[in-house]
Amino acid sequence: MDCWDQHDKGDVMVTPPPLKNDCFALPPGVAWTPVDDALAQLKSALRCVVSTETVDISEARDLFVAQDVIAPRASPPKANSAVDGYGFAGSLANEEEVIRLALHPERAAAGVPMQSAVAEGQAVRILTGAQLPEGVDTVVLQEDVATDGQEVVFHGPLKLGANTRKAGEDVQPANVMLTTGQRLRATDLSLAASVGISQIECFRRLRIGVLSTGDEVCDVTQSAAPHQIYDANRPMLLSLIAAWGFVAVDLGHVNDDRDQLRERLDHAQENVDVLLTSGGASAGDEDHLSALLSETGSIEFWRIAVKPGRPLAMGMWGAMPIFGLPGNPVAAATCAMIFARPSFNVLAGGHWMMPQSYWVKASFEKRKKPGRREYLRARLIGDQVEVFKSEGSGRISGLSWANGFVELPDHAVTIRHGDLVKFIPFDSFN
Ligand code: AMP
Ligand code: MG
Repeated sequence: MDCWDQHDKGDVMVTPPPLKNDCFALPPGVAWTPVDDALAQLKSALRCVVSTETVDISEARDLFVAQDVIAPRASPPKANSAVDGYGFAGSLANEEEVIRLALHPERAAAGVPMQSAVAEGQAVRILTGAQLPEGVDTVVLQEDVATDGQEVVFHGPLKLGANTRKAGEDVQPANVMLTTGQRLRATDLSLAASVGISQIECFRRLRIGVLSTGDEVCDVTQSAAPHQIYDANRPMLLSLIAAWGFVAVDLGHVNDDRDQLRERLDHAQENVDVLLTSGGASAGDEDHLSALLSETGSIEFWRIAVKPGRPLAMGMWGAMPIFGLPGNPVAAATCAMIFARPSFNVLAGGHWMMPQSYWVKASFEKRKKPGRREYLRARLIGDQVEVFKSEGSGRISGLSWANGFVELPDHAVTIRHGDLVKFIPFDSFN
C-alpha cells in the first residue's frame, strides 16, 4: 500500500497523507462517463486513509491486513491421527493379508503424549488428534479391526501413512498466511489462531458518516407533517455500511440550508473518514451540497451513464472524501453499492473489489436502448431471475422485494424469456 510504505511500522499511530483534491476528476470533455471508466477512475485515484493498529483477532473480522501475517509454527505441530483406531508401523500392512499385532498397553489420546515407543509387531489404541507415538506412521480405523484386548486383527493392504496427518501439512513455519490488503473473514481468523496468532496488524476500521439532506425529509422517529416524507435513505445506508464491516456513524439530517450544511460537514470531518450524503447533489437551487463543494473547488459532477443514478457528486471537504448520492432511495442504494462500496475497500486499506455476479436465466422480457448501463431490481428464485414491475427510482418497495440487481450492458439489448442475464446478489457486496 502506498500509504503504508511511507511510514515506519513501530507502535506509533501513523496517519496516511490526505487524498488529493482532484481525486474524483473524470476525463475532461466526456459528456457521459461509462460505468467502467468511472470505476477505473475511483480505483486508480483512491488510497488508504486510515492508520494501522494491532488488533485482537476477536475484534478483527472485516478489517484489512496491514502487514503480511507469517506463521510462527507448523500446523499441525506434530504428525497425528485423523481417526479413532489403532496405530502401527505401516510397512507391516502393505500386502493383501490378515495382519495380527500385539496391543500396546498404553493409549495415545489427543493432548496426552505417550511415554513409550510402539515396537515392531505392536499396535496402539489411538484417538483422533493424538500425536503419533514413536514407531507409528499409519492408523487403521477402529471399525476395521477386531480385538480381544490382547491382539488386534485386520485386513491389509493399508497405504503407508493412512489415516494420519503430517506435521506442517496445513501450514509450514514462515509461510505467509495472510497478505496485506486482505479482508479478514471468520475463516482467516481461524487460520491465524491455528498457529497461535492472537493479534494482527490491521488498518483501523473505516468510519463512514451518513447524512440526509432536504427540507421535506423527516427523521423516522419524529412525526412527519403532510408535506414531508420520512427519511428512508439513512437507515438503509447505515445498515449497508455495518453489513460491509465498516463503522457506520449516524450524522442525522440537515435542512436545505447552506450554513447548516457547512457546519455539519465541518463536524463530520472531525468524526469520520468519509461521508455519504443523500440528496441535494444536483445543480438545482436547493442543492446545497454541490454548491458548497463547488466553493472548495473540489466537486466533480459525475455524469455517469447509469440508470438509476443521476446525480452523483464526488468531492473533498478538507481531507474528507464525500460521496454525494442522489436523494431517490433506489438511486441512492444503487450508487452506494456500485460506486461507493468498492471505493470504501480502498479507503479502508484493502484491494478494489468487484461484486460476484452470475449468469442466470431471465424470466422477464425487456428491450433496452443503448447509452446507459442499467441496474434493475431483481429477484433470484431457483435458477431464474425476475425483475420488479416498475423501474421508478422512488419505488422502495422494489428494493425491499429484490435480492439483487440484474445488470444490463451499456449497449442496446433485447432480453427474452430464458436468455442469460447478469445477476449480482445484494449479498455479494458484503
Ligand atoms: P434530491 O436528490 O435532493 O433532489 O432528491 C430526489 C428525490 O429523492 C426527491 O423526491 C426527494 O424527496 C427524495 N429524497 C431525498 N432524500 C430522501 C430520503 N432521505 N429518503 C427518501 N426520499 C428522499
Ligand atoms: Mg433535496
